[in-house]
Amino acid sequence: MKVAVIGGGTMGNGIAHVFAQTGHDVVLIDAQASALERAAATIEKNLARLVKKEKISEEDAQSTLGRLTQSIELKDAAGCQLAIEAVFESFEVKRDIFTKLDEVCGPDTILASNTSSISLTKIAGVTKRADRVIGMHFMNPVPIMKLVEIICGQATSQETLAFVTKTAEELGKVPVTVHDYPGFIANRLLMPMINEAAYCLMEGVAEREAIDTVMKLGMAHPMGPLTLADFIGLDICLDIMEVLYEGFGDSKYRPCPLLRRMVDAGYLGRKSGRGFYEYDA
Ligand code: NAD
Repeated sequence: MKVAVIGGGTMGNGIAHVFAQTGHDVVLIDAQASALERAAATIEKNLARLVKKEKISEEDAQSTLGRLTQSIELKDAAGCQLAIEAVFESFEVKRDIFTKLDEVCGPDTILASNTSSISLTKIAGVTKRADRVIGMHFMNPVPIMKLVEIICGQATSQETLAFVTKTAEELGKVPVTVHDYPGFIANRLLMPMINEAAYCLMEGVAEREAIDTVMKLGMAHPMGPLTLADFIGLDICLDIMEVLYEGFGDSKYRPCPLLRRMVDAGYLGRKSGRGFYEYDA
């Protein structure tokens, strides 16, 4: 099928990659041409790695690239059966995208969002097809992580759920269905842990390495919460904490002031070269 992926950043390039690798024609759309260039380079690099590890052949890599096109125009989503949005974690930005997708896509197109925490019911509400709007929350890095949280908004139809579940399975993923509450499951559990790790650092409970080591060796997490936050992006972590705080109206979700200060300073984690740790360009 033809799939449109909107947003070519960390998540969008991975989503485009897995759809193209499993035989779908993909148009990757981003407002920034530079983001599309970076996305193409990342996909090529990740495919080359798979060839080197003998997971796929060189021909598979080439045909995957052959199924990928790029555009800076949202109207090029026209004609797709499934559109997946992966732009910034901001309702205002997503509202604009869904309003336009609703205009340019045919009435049968299913519109999905990769949002980490924003209400699918609220996103669906800006369209005239709330029954065909759903959450497809992929995990980072998309080509490797198996889980896809499928989030049903208030009006999402059973047909839409069935289609998206089957599609995720055909990508080799494991879909888990959840209802539309702030943070769904993944981030309702993960982000308060990361936020609390930031509080531990802010209050001087321990050094960053010590905080991460406790969760790695004590709880068998593959990486500590501060390392993981840098990997996800501190701006994304802060945005999700704001959604939890606002959505539940409960002070236990208040974002840590240190997290906020780091985002204000542009210390966004790996993608900016500095977060809780420092990274080479
Ligand atoms: P990112 O900042 O890496 O990429 C976002 C991209 O969207 C950028 O390339 C930007 O140019 C593009 N964009 C912004 N506004 C646009 C518009 N109006 N039209 C077209 N393109 C536009 O962000 P990301 O980390 O890939 O996150 C994307 C979404 O995925 C967010 O909703 C986030 O919460 C979710 N998510 C992120 C992760 C993660 O680990 N980073 C994991 C799961 C879900």
